[in-house]
Amino acid sequence: MNRANAHVAVVGAGIVGVCIAYQLRKRGVDVLLIDRDEPGRGCSYGNSGAISSASVVPLATPGIIRSVPGMLGKPDSPLFLPWRYLPQALPWLLQFVQASRKDRVLASAKRLAELHHEAVARHIALASEVGRPDLIIQRGHLHLYPDKAALQRDAFGWQLRRDHGVQYQILDRDGILQLEPNVSPRYQTGVFMADQATVANPFQYVQAIARKYQDNGGRLRSGVVQAITPAEGGPWHLDVGGDVISVSQVVVAAGVWSRKLLEPLGVKLALESQRGYHVQFQGGPAPVSRTVVLTDKRVFLTPMTDGLRVGGTVEIAGVNAAPDPRRADALARIALESFSELADQPYTTWSGHRPCMPDSVPVIGPADNHRGLFIATGHGHLGLTDSIGTAQRIGGMIQSALF
Ligand SMILES: Cc1cc2nc3c(=O)[nH]c(=O)nc-3n(C[C@H](O)[C@H](O)[C@H](O)COP(=O)(O)OP(=O)(O)OC[C@H]3O[C@@H](n4cnc5c(N)ncnc54)[C@H](O)[C@@H]3O)c2cc1C
Repeated sequence: MNRANAHVAVVGAGIVGVCIAYQLRKRGVDVLLIDRDEPGRGCSYGNSGAISSASVVPLATPGIIRSVPGMLGKPDSPLFLPWRYLPQALPWLLQFVQASRKDRVLASAKRLAELHHEAVARHIALASEVGRPDLIIQRGHLHLYPDKAALQRDAFGWQLRRDHGVQYQILDRDGILQLEPNVSPRYQTGVFMADQATVANPFQYVQAIARKYQDNGGRLRSGVVQAITPAEGGPWHLDVGGDVISVSQVVVAAGVWSRKLLEPLGVKLALESQRGYHVQFQGGPAPVSRTVVLTDKRVFLTPMTDGLRVGGTVEIAGVNAAPDPRRADALARIALESFSELADQPYTTWSGHRPCMPDSVPVIGPADNHRGLFIATGHGHLGLTDSIGTAQRIGGMIQSALF
């Protein structure tokens, strides 16, 4: 093999795969990025755009087991697991509950904090590099609580953030109104993190990175990767719609679908879909000017380029279940209860599969026992935030493997 000509395939052009491909190209690597769809049409299309470097608290925290029975069978609750999917979800759920042990939570928080390092600054720099600095909103994140008692119930998470150096300010109602005058009287207490940021159109962001990657000589191919197989002597073969492509290294960054692609190679990931939904109001100005989190509803409000986006909810029902319109309806109801001025605005709905590991820590690195095969998935609720950190790690590993 001519090492100088060695090239790398990245499977999956979501925010994670696109950032990896872009990063590898910058390092002088010959890259082929493959997706069955145009870049950014998977989970990365409709997220809430929050660059949340302060989010060091994994989803499974001590006491989470008490919330599991409430998830079952209630389609409009923030967490939903239909009974019929319980047998398939059970192994993942058991690992999720184990990951909620305090020592495990502290270890996961440390790993998340390392991955989040400089996330906001990195996204500001990348958006500029790809010609879209306008997409970054630098106005912080505001988390809202009905009262101090509700904030107190989240004390573990805020203490964990403080332990990792996160700076925040607790606000009373006046403080909230100074930042966001349209917030409903339901919310009397807030927590403001001034140094967090937001991407005002996650799909356009992925597209801009993909375009710049191509301008820099990166190749993009449309097609379904049906199989990844090791070939004699090192290179890998990818079956893309019947064509066989040979490469020396492969990065699987196919979001929640990575599990199925890796299974035939004996690589077993504890990856489960947590489907989220959004409703996107169209046409009018957004009633908030920054990322606002309604903590009691577990909903993110984002002022996107084209109106208010209301995103959230977790549905564990597998990748093949049809979207459940009741879950999007519940988000629309929450938005209309909070902002009556939205009543005249039409809205669209969307859902996407978050690729989730039981401990909320993504898998980033070489696959065991497979030289030249790398994995970058499992980013869960924070794939946008951690896309650049992931790309830098994978970029470094591949560069040292190739040159
Ligand atoms: C409602 C909601 C709100 C969210 N809010 C935030 C937020 O505010 N901040 C944040 O950081 N994160 C957020 N997230 C999480 C974030 O969106 C995900 O973690 C991230 O998009 C995952 O990116 P990805 O590139 O791994 O996966 P994806 O975007 O799903 O990309 C995977 C790609 O692989 C392709 N693919 C799969 N299989 C194949 C195959 N066999 N052949 C070819 N192509 C294939 C797919 O077409 C897809 O384009 C949110 C998620 C949801 C659902």
